[in-house]
Amino acid sequence: MQIPTLSIDRIRTGLLAREFSAVELATEALRFAAAENPKTNAYLRLSEERALDQAKRVDAALARGEDPGPLAGVPVAVKDVIVTRGVVTTCGSRLLANYVPPYDATAIVKLEAAGGVILGKTNCDEFAMGSSNENSAFGPVRNPAALDRVPGGSSGGSAAVVAQGTAVVSLGSDTGGSVRQPAAFCGVVGVTPTYGRVSRYGLTAYASSLDHVGPFARTVKDAAALLGVIAGHDPCDSTSAAAPVPDYAAQLDANVKGLKLGLPREYLKDLTGESLQLLLRAIEVLKGLGCEVREISLPATDSAIACYYIIATAEASSNLARYDGVRYTARAAGAGTLAAMYQETRGEGFGAECKRRIMLGTYVLSAGYYDAYYLKAQKVRTLIARDFANAFEHVDAIVAPVSPFPAFKLGEKVDDPLAMYLSDIYTITGSLAGIPCMSVPCGQTADGLPVGMQVLTRHFDEATMLKLADAYEQAH
Ligand code: GLN
Repeated sequence: MQIPTLSIDRIRTGLLAREFSAVELATEALRFAAAENPKTNAYLRLSEERALDQAKRVDAALARGEDPGPLAGVPVAVKDVIVTRGVVTTCGSRLLANYVPPYDATAIVKLEAAGGVILGKTNCDEFAMGSSNENSAFGPVRNPAALDRVPGGSSGGSAAVVAQGTAVVSLGSDTGGSVRQPAAFCGVVGVTPTYGRVSRYGLTAYASSLDHVGPFARTVKDAAALLGVIAGHDPCDSTSAAAPVPDYAAQLDANVKGLKLGLPREYLKDLTGESLQLLLRAIEVLKGLGCEVREISLPATDSAIACYYIIATAEASSNLARYDGVRYTARAAGAGTLAAMYQETRGEGFGAECKRRIMLGTYVLSAGYYDAYYLKAQKVRTLIARDFANAFEHVDAIVAPVSPFPAFKLGEKVDDPLAMYLSDIYTITGSLAGIPCMSVPCGQTADGLPVGMQVLTRHFDEATMLKLADAYEQAH
């Protein structure tokens, strides 16, 4: 059984034909993951017991002649910011090194109800803050495509396991690009659904107005199938949308003829080298499929980085206040007063990037600066969303780069936070607007580094986005 070549369909066929059982598949997937993981450090832990229990349930359902669900037996990895009952969930932080959640995130409940088998939890930047996975308290992840390079972040582990073949699909989270950028760096598909499409219940909060749960897969079809399972309204998340969920995987009919695509001028003006060449080549493929491509303008793009790093840090400073040594976390020993206990717990527990963001966020929310920074950033966010709304009056989808460059070397940007922040330039706009966006592989540089193409569509129109990406993937 070759785990790296398996697809959701192949697993279903194999199970139904009794070629292998779910327990056999899970056992082999766990063995392979344990053997391969030292190369990348992508998994923080494997959840063997939970995986095998679930596989037994799938086999029992099959034995009874029941439909075991659309993800039956599929080995899935989960980013360690998504809580799993009874399985340590660290958020990549020393503070939560021993935290065992008492409940499952909604996405996890749905995944298992559909027959998915959770193999383990994946490494990530601390509290999902970062673009390279180097902010994890448990060491960086290496990119399977080039082991001296970063896998992207913050969902670096979830992208790497799918690229490495130690999971068939995985879940990540995206606040400003953390699914799309690592997907592009590792050469896999990554989908950020519309804000509210997938419940955030049980996704550890970083910046609540921007946080999304999103799937990784080796093909658009598998990503579509996983999204279909985790999407839908959830009374446990007040921002979850009641919009009906189409059968995404069934709608991938490759018919994209006549679709109008926009190419944002502002995204191409600074793009250079092979990242530009590969994107232009992908656009030629889309034209060959009958899509009409035109240039569009998203004028507020230049303000997006500043806007994002004000809003995201403001929300983060508030969300991270809960890690105080009283709840969830370990407590610093020996502090004499309550205030000292807070300070020492947080001082020892948080890594440098979290501290930087707590300080930035507290600053932009403080009296006297609130109007100048936070309020202004909220207004800019509206302009960014309006740019997209205007564009979607003329086009059905937007095609764009994911990152200004392919995967960079480990250590290359760690001492320059601003350079790190600038790598999010093409992904944070879609997050701020709350629209669906995804990355689909569009080739490799001469050095073998994967590059991704980004596709963005109207709110709740994941179907068009996935259809376009699938048609491209088939033709490419
Ligand atoms: N790189 C961005 C940040 O550091 C995005 C992270 C994310 O999407 N979680 O905030």
